[in-house]
Amino acid sequence: MKYIDQIEMKSKKVFLRVDFNVPIKEGKVTSDNRVRAHIPTINYALEKGAKIIIASHLGRPKGKRVEEMSLGPVVPILSGLIQQEVAFVDDCVGEKVQAAVNKMKAGDVFLLENLRFNPGEDKNDAAFAKELASLCDIYIDDAFAVSHRAAASNSAITDYVKTCGAGFLLKNEIEYFKKAIVNPARPLAAIIGGAKVSDKIGVLENLIDKVDKLLIGGAMAFTFLKAQGLEVGKSLCEEEMLDTARKIMQKAKDKNVQFLLPTDVACAKEAAADAAVKICSVKEIPADQMGLDIGPATITLFTDALKGVKTVIWNGPLGMFELAPFSKGTFALAEAVASSGAVSIIGGGDTETALKKAGKNTKMSYISTGGGAFLELLEGKTLPGIAALDK
Ligand code: AMP
Repeated sequence: MKYIDQIEMKSKKVFLRVDFNVPIKEGKVTSDNRVRAHIPTINYALEKGAKIIIASHLGRPKGKRVEEMSLGPVVPILSGLIQQEVAFVDDCVGEKVQAAVNKMKAGDVFLLENLRFNPGEDKNDAAFAKELASLCDIYIDDAFAVSHRAAASNSAITDYVKTCGAGFLLKNEIEYFKKAIVNPARPLAAIIGGAKVSDKIGVLENLIDKVDKLLIGGAMAFTFLKAQGLEVGKSLCEEEMLDTARKIMQKAKDKNVQFLLPTDVACAKEAAADAAVKICSVKEIPADQMGLDIGPATITLFTDALKGVKTVIWNGPLGMFELAPFSKGTFALAEAVASSGAVSIIGGGDTETALKKAGKNTKMSYISTGGGAFLELLEGKTLPGIAALDK
């Protein structure tokens, strides 16, 4: 795969696929994080004198124009961040777009309208991809968050543009993933939490082959505890996953992977911020209580397990961190990872929110920008958006 810094872009028309899928309320962008994430790539292309045509999706308009999902509100945000004018028209292909592109000079920036207003985008349609490709000389993909879905703008388009490569955000995602899984400094530990085993079986199965230690928390721990014959009270538990959980534990044993489950939990009768919290051993969870966080003994167990570890992968909170009484486990592990000195690679979404709440997000080596895409990488899958650049 080529990266943006290996491609000559001077005066070339560069089609840059980004993820500007920002939250918008009443026509205003409420968080510019996703735009900021691409600024290093955009600024680099500007420095090199490219004509930059930026393309993104926003929301799920399902192939037709939906006014609230227009990328129009992103124009002033992007313009402010790169301190220059950004051209925009209300389409992503067609005569108007072509005319605007023809007028571009080196160093100009042009934002296309939401790609998903066109039905060809989600269908990875060749004709639509050809139209997009006709706008440019060079294709750069920087939208990791959609790499797990083949779309015209991240897959088929690469059939019609001769020079293709990855931007800095995508490069970072790929390189940190390699550091985490392909070529990690060892020992390598994974912390997997969150709600369901069923959402993360693929991840668990793949990681068992790769990690030295696997620490399980969150609601999914109760499915494993139940599979070991323990009673878990009212805790979330997936009965239909008990066999799978047993198989995963057996595989861990066969592969000599240190597999750690909670030994104690913070329980309550209900998931509420003002609930009376009881710490109990996993062997004594009362029938009328549910486990909502790992307990203090488990915090020590997990923290000790991370000592000396060189790489940590973390996906999923260890408890219902949204409620203060059940955030202690996740926050304590955030501190443990932050101070471990290990390379730490974090799956996006809830885990990032939890780390921000704990004030530790800036202490991690890398927080992925792709929830689904990151999980699929952890599952060992080849992502179509990345494979298209590898052709
Ligand atoms: P996921 O999207 O699978 O990573 O799940 C994240 C969600 O799992 C968060 O909203 C947490 O509140 C929830 N969660 C974590 N631990 C527990 C638990 N012990 N009981 C119920 N929900 C939990």
